[in-house]
Amino acid sequence: MNFPLARFAHHSWVFSEAATTSKSNGRLFPTLRKRKLTSTAIPRAQNKSSEELLVVVGAGAAGVYGAIRAKTLAPNLTVVVVEKARPLAKVKVSGGGRCNVTNGHCVDTMMLAENYPRGHRELKGAFFNTHGPVDTMTWFSDHGVELKTEDDGRVFPVSNSSSTIVDCLMSESTRLGVSLQTGKAVVTASPTDGQKFLLGIEKRTPSAVEYIEADYLLIASGNGKQGYSLASQLGHSIVDPVPSLFTFKIEDSKLADLSGITFPKVKAKLKIENVQRNIPQLTQVGPVLVTHWGFSGPAILRLSAWGACVLSTSGYKGTLILDFTPDVHIDDVKSILTQHKNKFAKQKVANSYPTEFGLVKRFWKYILSRQGLLGDILWASISKDSLFSVAHMLKHCDFCVKGKSQYKDEFVTAGGVPLSEISLNTMESRIQSRLFFAGEVLNVDGITGGFNFQNAWSGGYIAGTSIGKQAVGA
Ligand SMILES: Cc1cc2nc3c(=O)[nH]c(=O)nc-3n(C[C@H](O)[C@H](O)[C@H](O)COP(=O)(O)OP(=O)(O)OC[C@H]3O[C@@H](n4cnc5c(N)ncnc54)[C@H](O)[C@@H]3O)c2cc1C
Repeated sequence: MNFPLARFAHHSWVFSEAATTSKSNGRLFPTLRKRKLTSTAIPRAQNKSSEELLVVVGAGAAGVYGAIRAKTLAPNLTVVVVEKARPLAKVKVSGGGRCNVTNGHCVDTMMLAENYPRGHRELKGAFFNTHGPVDTMTWFSDHGVELKTEDDGRVFPVSNSSSTIVDCLMSESTRLGVSLQTGKAVVTASPTDGQKFLLGIEKRTPSAVEYIEADYLLIASGNGKQGYSLASQLGHSIVDPVPSLFTFKIEDSKLADLSGITFPKVKAKLKIENVQRNIPQLTQVGPVLVTHWGFSGPAILRLSAWGACVLSTSGYKGTLILDFTPDVHIDDVKSILTQHKNKFAKQKVANSYPTEFGLVKRFWKYILSRQGLLGDILWASISKDSLFSVAHMLKHCDFCVKGKSQYKDEFVTAGGVPLSEISLNTMESRIQSRLFFAGEVLNVDGITGGFNFQNAWSGGYIAGTSIGKQAVGA
């Protein structure tokens, strides 16, 4: 699928390589030397789309899905995907190599949108109704990929291999005649008088820039800086990109001894330094995992996503308050501890503890150490106040957050092109007609569970549909 660049420019104007550039208003404008390519025999145009070119920036999930959709609707449209690195690289590494394609538990689109810290209001409209998780699953199964939904809603290929998804998308692109240009980056974009886009495409070195004109432009560049730059060159603003989906570094040397312990259900509340307002999503319930440096697990990742923007302004400083017995009221915790004390008065507190809380011994000792209750202390000698303090600690254990660590299995970027600047019905820019955006380049990001890919599939599909329809004049 790798054609020389000139091949896809046959119907248009191609500008010389290494054209000199001049700066105007902060933008780079090429000094053009027009050259009409005649090397490829061009059949006479059958209809509108046979003369037109769609350039997709980025062969990620959104770009490839969008290219396939546009080419499906408009077979005569020339569709070229320009990729500076490896196509579908993130799909390949995603979900620990299994690719969590989407989420199968959120059939209701209103509920689905709640999983997007950036986008939860805007995505409640047509976006997921046009192409939601069920449509994604249907699409892949129609294209020969068997999928399964795990208990927590995450959808994976039955093969448990992301290669199944990559191979499916690549072979469908090839079958339709989508052209993939790898090792090239789109570096400049400007509108032309003829309502086209003049694109500067760099191959390996900045000195080797080719210029082409595209009729439609789909920017699906993920969280890459170049994509944001292209969007700004075409008049868009950018919400400052900040990381989302990370784990918390905790200031507590004793916590490292607990590394590897998983709590299946914890209520976690995050208070961020200098943030007074109440953000309901900064309380999450779910599994928490102790790591070498602090806390991870689904509840923590959700907090990191909802707190991503405010945490970045606070230098990732805050207080994490964990309730390790969220289903047991504080009064019941106290009475369980009291009953245990009465029953096991002659046993050491470090060795004997209530099983009702489902805690492991290492963690119980940690709680005792925070209360200064370690050693050979017997239950009989524990005062009522100490006992109630232990109860309080189990329900309200605070930890000092001192920074973030990358979550290697999945991380995304919050920020990008604001949703207010595009129409979510078409993914077309409100600033520049025939310019489209899809995927992570937009100010949309989801929590873990397949939501980030779903944003890419939905956006790619809607953009591809709009472009395909415009190309055939529908
Ligand atoms: C390790 C990891 C695991 C993940 N696992 C999951 C998961 O299991 N489920 C899930 O839902 N989400 C997952 N995500 C998030 C998900 O991968 C992204 O949200 C998704 O890939 C975004 O798709 P995209 O097409 O918008 O961008 P990308 O996949 O980032 O694709 C953008 C492409 O554009 C190219 N590009 C950028 N600028 C240019 C340019 N100027 N010219 C040419 N090419 C350019 C880039 O090289 C890239 O290939 C994971 C992320 C990571 C990092």
